[in-house]
Amino acid sequence: METTMNKSALKGGEWLIQNGGVAETFTPEDYNEEQLMILEMCHQFIAAEIHPIVERIDKMEPGLMPSLMEKAGQLGLLSASVPEDLGGMGKDFVTSTLVSEGLGGGYSFSVAMSAHAGIGTLPILYFGTEEQKKKYIPKLASGEWKGSYGLTEPGSGSDALGAKTTATLSADGKYYLLNGQKVWITNGGFADVYTVFAKVDGENFTAFIVERNFEGFTRGPEEHKMGIKGSSTVQLYFQDCKVPAENVLGEIGKGHVIAFNILNIGRLKLAAAAIGGAKLALTDSIEYAKTREQFKTAIANFGAIKHKLAEMAIKIYADESALYRTAKWIDEKEHELLADGKPFNEALLGAAEEFAIECAILKVHGSEVLDFVVDEGVQIHGGNGFSDEYTISKAYRDSRVNRIYEGTNEINRMLTVDMMLKRAMKGKLDLMGPAMNVQKELISIPEFGNDDEGSFFQEQKTIANMKKCILMVAGAAVQKLMMNLSNEQEIIMNIADMAIEAFVSESTLLRMMKHVEKNGEENSKIQMAMMQCYLNDAMDKIAKCGKEAINAFAEGDEQRMMMLGLKRFTKTQPFNSKNARRLIADELIEKGRCSL
Ligand SMILES: Cc1cc2nc3c(=O)[nH]c(=O)nc-3n(C[C@H](O)[C@H](O)[C@H](O)COP(=O)(O)OP(=O)(O)OC[C@H]3O[C@@H](n4cnc5c(N)ncnc54)[C@H](O)[C@@H]3O)c2cc1C
Repeated sequence: METTMNKSALKGGEWLIQNGGVAETFTPEDYNEEQLMILEMCHQFIAAEIHPIVERIDKMEPGLMPSLMEKAGQLGLLSASVPEDLGGMGKDFVTSTLVSEGLGGGYSFSVAMSAHAGIGTLPILYFGTEEQKKKYIPKLASGEWKGSYGLTEPGSGSDALGAKTTATLSADGKYYLLNGQKVWITNGGFADVYTVFAKVDGENFTAFIVERNFEGFTRGPEEHKMGIKGSSTVQLYFQDCKVPAENVLGEIGKGHVIAFNILNIGRLKLAAAAIGGAKLALTDSIEYAKTREQFKTAIANFGAIKHKLAEMAIKIYADESALYRTAKWIDEKEHELLADGKPFNEALLGAAEEFAIECAILKVHGSEVLDFVVDEGVQIHGGNGFSDEYTISKAYRDSRVNRIYEGTNEINRMLTVDMMLKRAMKGKLDLMGPAMNVQKELISIPEFGNDDEGSFFQEQKTIANMKKCILMVAGAAVQKLMMNLSNEQEIIMNIADMAIEAFVSESTLLRMMKHVEKNGEENSKIQMAMMQCYLNDAMDKIAKCGKEAINAFAEGDEQRMMMLGLKRFTKTQPFNSKNARRLIADELIEKGRCSL
């Protein structure tokens, strides 16, 4: 495998066939002063304005959430990615991702803010005409107007293009008349501006900008939800709703371009908010474990609790490594496209589309890390974790929806594999060459080269082997099943999980290597322990998924050969993970927080 030399030339999915390099990765240790300041500002906002009143927010006190969003807007927190000439902060993609993380510990506020600044604002910012942008964006950026997004319908969720809401041009050509219903609409109860999808003449899927007081538009009562209780979620009804013809957003029949492009960014931002929430849950859990005593000692002294704390931190560290590596790639690609003369909206959308595979991976991994962290957080809190008086129970309930919206995790897993194969078919990603090389390696005698070839040689070999497993399994599955692979979703899920683990593992290793380069091994022991624990577990998962997939589609000699290959590629060195986790947990307990 080649090593990534030219970072700006990296394309989406290419990490699968090239070894990443330290120079190419961007990590939380690389934030500049301004980024750190903005992150701190977000944390202060959440601590001062949100945490003291979470109960009032959850009771949906009238006017409270909109007023909090206005406060955030005054600080510029709703408009990090909006250009300055439209009233925003005009920050780069990494910085706007940091804002999502920084506000991610705000429970329902975080959801309202994310929906407003993301799906509520970006469709108009990226697809609006100059007039539409001038009319709506400054008010959305300041928080004076609140934004919302209506795509899902009672009969079409994952199958979003199956929408039944229709739009018919009036006889005088001045209005579209919208008829239909939307469900599960975040911020729907108080928003001023909605991006709504409907089919023109029942066929051409199109986006429209709908204002709250348009004739024929009504909103249903608030849903009673399992979590994010303070976030407004309602149904929207359109009965001959009169939408001016100039409020068509983008082109007629091109609504899917808006819906899918906005989702790429939304998925990455969801992962960022999930990290913010997970860090808060871990900090709360460390604090609780230090103060709660049983058997005359703090529960933080028990190995079983240390294991949990360490595992929470390891998953967050790994997830964060993949998130900011991708955010920086998007930033770099955006600059490349701007330099090529693309306007700003096409540049960011093009950059996010280039890394759509990674955005889907991050959404799945981030939401599942958050679920893991809050679940273990509740366990550490024991009975109190089940009480409404402790915020960890709220974090647990609030977390669950992240695996459902912005495309369910099943849909995102399928997309991950589907997009990889489509890129390969279009010649954008050379999967077949490397996959055939792995097949050749399977029938050749294994090389017993020098295993001591510099720092972290073993770990780099582990990552290369993870990728070989994916290429072997995916390559054979495509050859064997061809078009029928799409009907074998279990195999697709296996391949997606292998890809997720390999991408996150490599990002974690590169982050740690960068830390060692800057600080030396002596000062990177915790980072090294986290990396080793993550890679070790990831390899086990890859072995399990690979085995399941191979047994599902291969037989006879082919099956035996691939199983031998899998065994060879997934071999790991003996490693004392108990000691590594103890080291990590002791540091967490001493520092009292999760940032390492
Ligand atoms: C709190 C909340 C807020 C939301 N906010 C918004 C919003 O602001 N705007 C908006 O438009 N929508 C919003 N949604 C809707 C959300 O995006 C949808 O719920 C989601 O896309 C899933 O659709 P669904 O609920 O119809 O589930 P379904 O699509 O019916 O899925 C049910 C199950 O089947 C699986 N499934 C579906 N299709 C396939 C397939 N092809 N292969 C394998 N498995 C499949 C799914 O993964 C899932 O496990 C929100 C939802 C919630 C709960």
